[in-house]
Amino acid sequence: MLSSLLKPQNLLRATKAPLRRSFTTNFPALQQVAAAQQTATAERVKNFINGEFVESQADKWIELRNPATQELLCLVPETTNEELNEATSAAEAAAKEWRKSTVLQRQRVMMDLQYLIRENQAKIAENIVQEQGKTFEDAKGDVFRGLQVVEQACSLPSLLMGEKLTVAKDMETYAYREPLGVVAGICPFNFPAMIPLWMFPLAIAAGNSIVMKPSERDPGAMMMLAKLAAEAGVPKGVLNIVHGSVDCVNYICDEPRIKAISFVGSDRAGQHIYTRGNANGKRVQANLGAKNHAVIMPDANKQATLNAIAGAAFGAAGQRCMALSTVIMVGKTKEWLPELAERARQLKVGYGMDPQTDVGPVITPQSKERIEYLVQSGVDEGAELLLDGRGIVVKNYEKGNFVGPTILSNVKPNMECYREEIFGPVLVCLNVETLDEAVELINNNPYGNGTAIFTNSGPIARKFEHDIDVGQVGINTPIPVPVPPFSFTGSRGSILGDLNFYGKSGLHFYTKPKTVTSLWREGDADHTRSSVSMPTM
Ligand code: NAD
Repeated sequence: MLSSLLKPQNLLRATKAPLRRSFTTNFPALQQVAAAQQTATAERVKNFINGEFVESQADKWIELRNPATQELLCLVPETTNEELNEATSAAEAAAKEWRKSTVLQRQRVMMDLQYLIRENQAKIAENIVQEQGKTFEDAKGDVFRGLQVVEQACSLPSLLMGEKLTVAKDMETYAYREPLGVVAGICPFNFPAMIPLWMFPLAIAAGNSIVMKPSERDPGAMMMLAKLAAEAGVPKGVLNIVHGSVDCVNYICDEPRIKAISFVGSDRAGQHIYTRGNANGKRVQANLGAKNHAVIMPDANKQATLNAIAGAAFGAAGQRCMALSTVIMVGKTKEWLPELAERARQLKVGYGMDPQTDVGPVITPQSKERIEYLVQSGVDEGAELLLDGRGIVVKNYEKGNFVGPTILSNVKPNMECYREEIFGPVLVCLNVETLDEAVELINNNPYGNGTAIFTNSGPIARKFEHDIDVGQVGINTPIPVPVPPFSFTGSRGSILGDLNFYGKSGLHFYTKPKTVTSLWREGDADHTRSSVSMPTM
């Protein structure tokens, strides 16, 4: 059995105690030797090809470090071209058989998968804390929001139900959707479970096989999900995982046997993948960056609003594509800012497995540096630094990539800290006098992922809903990500492609329509003349 061949220790890393300060800290030469030894002995993440976890023959390996400690967790391969071809060939062969399975068979696999994910939610979440840094509770949410897509896939028979109409005497047209064949998924680091789960369960449920490329910065959750998928009965070759970065992505964009690409990540990578994939005739769905604005109206419930903003701006260290990273204070609500800052100050920054922690580290030292640079750019351009989380040191985790909650107020739209997606625990605050000004500001921003208004007025909420040009709107709800009966509906600069992730649209992305028109004449045996006209009844 595949499951008994897959040793958990090859895939999972148990939570380790915080690293003690090494004696080499003050001796750079010794540090280098220690680092080289660590690298030589570090675990190597395997590819998953044709149902087997296999070590790559790569000559380039990417170091993956715990963002709270810098402990070297493992090495991720830059998968070779030969291995990428093996994964695609396995997927191609498997797709030919898998498409013949019945919808009910695939539904049963999804049911078993959803059960196994629920059973293993905590283990996957622990891995996410180590590799990605978010808090354990938040990591469980990461798994849970992906699990909901698997639950949606369990209703496959009704979702894939076709249509049929009698269109002329004895003639029927029926329509149904067929799988595409081999598809691919390319994932970002910030939701290592949820975003792969947006992709492979629906793709597989629809009868495709898939080549997944998780983020090279935290592939562990996807590896655990692959093991569970195999246990749930996903046949060999239907789900494959390859690791790497740019070369691996370019292979996926260029390989003709891969018919469609699901991508979630930054603008730069997404625009490249969308353009290159499309140029090669592929269907591409790409969710990109964001700058989500909250509008606070003077009639809002102050306490509930400030709590919602603090949670949505600083939760997951601001590394959510739906984080409320920008707040527009309408009229007198700018006077609420000191209270917001006080609430943010009380959030505890620390290691994700510490139950007291509210804000974990950001993903890499480079990311921390970029965030701190953007905060400073705001100060230099005239914003007021209401709360400064830079330079924070967390006891026992002195090497972690921590940035504390930070608030810049009096921000203007031309400032770099407003124009750039900061992707860290930094809230930028702008002031306006009216709702119309707030709407204009948001509609002028290139992104359209999510937005939220806080008000006690139904008419104001209604006007906002109608006037705002953003895909996902929250009313007194800070992160309005729809559950899977709907789709994830970011808009404008936050999305490329026409078919959204999950929901009916997600299933349509992974399938193509076919119509069949059939004529079985009653009494055909007596039929002696050919008809040359189009049917009129
Ligand atoms: P990223 O673009 O750096 O990486 C995403 C994937 O693209 C990775 O698998 C990576 O290997 C690959 N990649 C990176 N650079 C590439 C390049 N130059 N050429 C080809 N491939 C490349 O994104 P990230 O930092 O991992 O994730 C954060 C970003 O993702 C943020 O911008 C965030 O807003 C966005 N995001 C968007 C959504 C959404 O639904 N809109 C959801 C989550 C994250």
